[in-house]
Amino acid sequence: MAVRVTVLASGSRGNCALFSSSAGSILVDAGISCRETLKRMKAAGEDPHQIKAIVISHEHNDHVAGLGVLARKLKVPVYMTEETYESWRNSARDDEGKPATLEACEHFHAGRSFMIGDIIVNPFTIPHDAVDPCGFTFKAEGVKVGMVTDLGYLPYSVKDHLRRCDGLLIESNHDVEMLRNGPYPWMVKQRVMSRVGHLSNSALADFLESDYDGSAAFLILAHLSQENNYPELAHRTAIRALGGKLNLFQANMLAIAQQDKPLQPLYVG
Ligand SMILES: [Zn+2]
Ligand SMILES: [Zn+2]
Repeated sequence: MAVRVTVLASGSRGNCALFSSSAGSILVDAGISCRETLKRMKAAGEDPHQIKAIVISHEHNDHVAGLGVLARKLKVPVYMTEETYESWRNSARDDEGKPATLEACEHFHAGRSFMIGDIIVNPFTIPHDAVDPCGFTFKAEGVKVGMVTDLGYLPYSVKDHLRRCDGLLIESNHDVEMLRNGPYPWMVKQRVMSRVGHLSNSALADFLESDYDGSAAFLILAHLSQENNYPELAHRTAIRALGGKLNLFQANMLAIAQQDKPLQPLYVG
């Protein structure tokens, strides 16, 4: 079993993915129920016993909805920043209505990498309207994978972290015109479009065209809006932006993460 990424769910109704080395897996975000997470892992051929830890990007419900139950059931430590933990604790409730607790919680800091088993986790700050939101790169067996969603734009610092990735999961949230003309209330449109909202197809296209180094064996477009995007549109926009970069690598793949079903594992290295 080589290094791989398995997306279990992606979108505003829940996010959850696995980064795995041959020694174990990390669950990245816990935005769907425990039951659904385990069901989807089974469907994707992933073994829950391999999970060594849960790592949380930020406290929005679509990233933590299943956290309390999952952590208890899997009996693994949860890694999140202190600010994210406090914010999660303030709103999450246990079965008796008391503030939820985690049996084993480790705090990390954006900008300081840490190890989980043989995996190096590198968290970095992203622009999003949460208390301390982070994107991640993961390294194991000489392979680097980036995972970044829920960000209003791509600052230089984030682009730097995404250099020389062997696999990349990145947000392609909305089509700007669809969002503008779509059903959302104006306040919500403003939020999504803002510098701390979500990454549009065209913002991702700019990155793919101008900054992306073409090093990844696969790209996964993630956190697509169900109201303000079409998978075909996100796909077409990315393909056009990639241009010649896509042909340079035989194994190059462009996948679309789904809200309602898991993707089969994507391997690197
Ligand atoms: Zn989200
Ligand atoms: Zn969010």
